[in-house]
Amino acid sequence: EVKVRIAPSPTGDPHVGTAYIALFNYVFAKHNNGKFILRIEDTDRTRSTEDSEQQIFDALKWLGLNYDEGPDVGGEFGPYRQSERFDIYKKYALELVEKGAAYYCFCTQERLKKLRERQIAMKKAPGYDGHCRSLTKEEVEANLKEGKPYVIRLKMPYEGKTVIKDLLRGEVSFENDKIDDQILLKSDGFPTYHLANVVDDHLMGITHVIRAEEWIPSTPKHIQLYKAFGWEEPVWVHMPLLRNADKSKISKRKNPVSLNYYIETGYLKEGILNFLALMGWGLGEEKEMFGLDEMIEKFTFDRASLGGPVFDLKKLGWLNNLHMRNKDLGELTKLAIPYFVKAGYLKDENMTDEEFENLKSVIKIAREPSQTLSDLPKESKIYFVDDFMLPEVEEGMFAKQKKTIVRLHKAIEDEIGKKAIQLFIEKIEKMEENISEEDAKNILHSLLDEIGEGAGKILMPIRAVLTGEPKGPDLYTVINVIGKTRVLKRVNNIVE
Ligand code: ATP
Ligand code: GLU
Repeated sequence: EVKVRIAPSPTGDPHVGTAYIALFNYVFAKHNNGKFILRIEDTDRTRSTEDSEQQIFDALKWLGLNYDEGPDVGGEFGPYRQSERFDIYKKYALELVEKGAAYYCFCTQERLKKLRERQIAMKKAPGYDGHCRSLTKEEVEANLKEGKPYVIRLKMPYEGKTVIKDLLRGEVSFENDKIDDQILLKSDGFPTYHLANVVDDHLMGITHVIRAEEWIPSTPKHIQLYKAFGWEEPVWVHMPLLRNADKSKISKRKNPVSLNYYIETGYLKEGILNFLALMGWGLGEEKEMFGLDEMIEKFTFDRASLGGPVFDLKKLGWLNNLHMRNKDLGELTKLAIPYFVKAGYLKDENMTDEEFENLKSVIKIAREPSQTLSDLPKESKIYFVDDFMLPEVEEGMFAKQKKTIVRLHKAIEDEIGKKAIQLFIEKIEKMEENISEEDAKNILHSLLDEIGEGAGKILMPIRAVLTGEPKGPDLYTVINVIGKTRVLKRVNNIVE
């Protein structure tokens, strides 16, 4: 059975890289009816926080990447927090010493520092020189008895190569003599990443390790650990890194890397997942938009790409717009409500069914040009702000802009415009508060019939007083959404 994991460290905000790697682990597991688990790698006690761990749980659930085992959901291979497994790592480190595959190292910080300085001076690659590898059993016993601090190191072979068989990259090989004798257990008794990661992957039954490319240099060390223990290694899959336009690894300076940024800005989980999927996989150029279910159904690593397209926010915006337009309108509206409250367009999140229906009509139009949920209020200003004035010509405007503004003013000042507005007011006043789109359409048609002038001459002044803009959504929709009182308020505001 396939079993995969993500193993994030709970330091700082949840990283988009974590979401990206989680997605690939999740779809691979689901496609193969396997399991996807979450393990928290919090061996760095100074940088790990509970808050950051909680944010990882929340972010994965928000994305819908639910894990079958994890610290907060349990499972039979727990505990799933490395800080609760320190005894296990110590036991396995000692087992390797027993087997002769690892050794106690008593070198002091001072000696290591001198060694490093010497290596730098001689332009040699820095690394441990294996000084304690040849200590006799008696010397080790004596040092332990004296209570000398120690670390446990892995004996890397001095010769030969370690070959990673990567599912996406084929064979990647490393010269063993270039790899240091890795520390497995630190002097404070804490395990290093390498030891804890390998022990846990083995004990938790992980069959495929799917992680970012940046871990490739660690993999030969892991392979040597599997060998030392006599355990079967998992299948290795190293996904391409998310990159800036200049091909560097995405970084805070060039792109937001916190998943919280994307959630708060109002990207949908569908948009984010689709975008992250395209960073390492695809269904072909004609089909860039797809959802999680389709990805699970069609997932194979054969379709993975190593190039790693650029992490391009424009592309994310474009995809997210498609998903916003594709989403059930009621569901989109529910998600959008907090953004309207934040924009000051709603006083709180409570609303009547009728108000909800109104908001739905607004969003139906506003979602067309919107890339995120926070664009929706910006695109719907027309429905919420009643006390606007017509724009005025200002210095520095382009000629075209000036002309449009002049046209707006003219529209409400000329005789036909005045007549149209007057007749419009009379007809609106006869209506109930809620005016259906149908009734609003009839009113506008009757204006055209009764005045007998071209549509532009009659509808432009109405648009001017209702929206203050030369262009925008259909007028009958605006009338329907804002209702009688606010229609009259707007008209009176402009024409007194
Ligand atoms: P730092 O810059 O401090 O090394 P980081 O940017 O690598 O940190 P981490 O918190 O270490 O951030 O990364 C969280 C997870 O996201 C890790 O599993 C890491 O492999 C993965 N990750 C980080 N950056 C990328 C990236 N550019 N592409 C893909 N995955 C990434
Ligand atoms: N703790 C590592 C991380 O932060 C795990 C890397 C791996 O998947 O082995 O991503």
